[in-house]
Amino acid sequence: MSNKKHFETRAIELTDKFSLDVNPVSTPIYLSSTYKRNADGSYNDDLIYSRHNNPNRDQLEKAIANLENGKHGFAFTSGMAAISSVLQTLKSGDHILIPDDVYYAVRKLLADICSGWGIAFDLVDMTNLEALKAAIKPNTVMVWMESPSNPLLKITDIQAVVALCKELSCLSCVDNTWATPVLQNPLDFGVDIVMHSSSKYFGGHSDIIGGALVVNSDELAEKFKAIQTLSGAVQAPFDSWLISRGLKTLALRVERQSFNAFRLAKFLESHERISQVLYPGLESHPQHKVALKHYNGIHYGGMISVLINGSSEETAYISNKLNLFTSATSLGGVESLVEHRKFVEGPDSQTPENLLRISVGIEHIDDLINDWKQALE
Ligand code: PLP
Repeated sequence: MSNKKHFETRAIELTDKFSLDVNPVSTPIYLSSTYKRNADGSYNDDLIYSRHNNPNRDQLEKAIANLENGKHGFAFTSGMAAISSVLQTLKSGDHILIPDDVYYAVRKLLADICSGWGIAFDLVDMTNLEALKAAIKPNTVMVWMESPSNPLLKITDIQAVVALCKELSCLSCVDNTWATPVLQNPLDFGVDIVMHSSSKYFGGHSDIIGGALVVNSDELAEKFKAIQTLSGAVQAPFDSWLISRGLKTLALRVERQSFNAFRLAKFLESHERISQVLYPGLESHPQHKVALKHYNGIHYGGMISVLINGSSEETAYISNKLNLFTSATSLGGVESLVEHRKFVEGPDSQTPENLLRISVGIEHIDDLINDWKQALE
């Protein structure tokens, strides 16, 4: 009888049971869902099962935490999964304050899902500290900031809000998706939780959905590790790899996008068909001084919102006339996008009908300005 194992056994054994002794420059993707236990029952590097840990996700989480000047990072399947994980730390009877122009899905999540668990919320203008103080209730446990906000680009004085939260023992959170850690590090201002939609600038190429949380507190980290593992919305290995790759060029992209956005904002501000340009880098922006304080003082990000001097139909017409700005949702990619937000956000949206949200890409600025020139003619 031959010692050779059967075909079916060889097909499995020979394709899996050895590791290549090579030195790749780019990190390999570890798709394995499970890991071999040692004879004593222990696991190497705490690798048990990919919902618990995965080398690509571990690497991404460490990188994001480091870039945000934080201690612990967590990567989720989407920005909304990251936000849901924050909301899962709340209990029935708790109250949370969110910005009046918060990313609309956050408001919807709280209104349609979390309200059923007994969690209450109120909208407040986070740029108005007196309004924020007035909105605080005895059961307020969390203040959610988005700075800049989506889509009005309001800039919150994060340091002032953090000081108030500390006084009241409330948790402070910042959605830092639009500013990115290249421009702003909210943990440096004493914020408790920083959140990102990695689908935007982190990924940077409009080909990935992901989310992240970063904290300094060991206690919060323990909670998020439990929520992440038990709820299971973990960033997959290939997606983690793609986002890690995106992080390598994040600073370059954000610098170029900010440069382009500033020039485009200046052009749009001077055009008679535009009634207002909302861009934190412009002196005309109501919170420009706060942006100066929070940002790196050179760049102000790649997002602009403009109010068209005209009706909703005229606004849609201009958006459709643009060639280099694709009419599509999302932002933060290398390609320029434009969106008539009111129609995306639905009937209860507070967004003006004549607002176009622009995500400026890395194309040549002269071509981008010329595209707007022809669209506004
Ligand atoms: N926060 C902000 C500021 C966003 O713009 C978005 C998405 O557009 C999200 C959160 C949600 O992220 P995701 O789409 O990755 O779930």
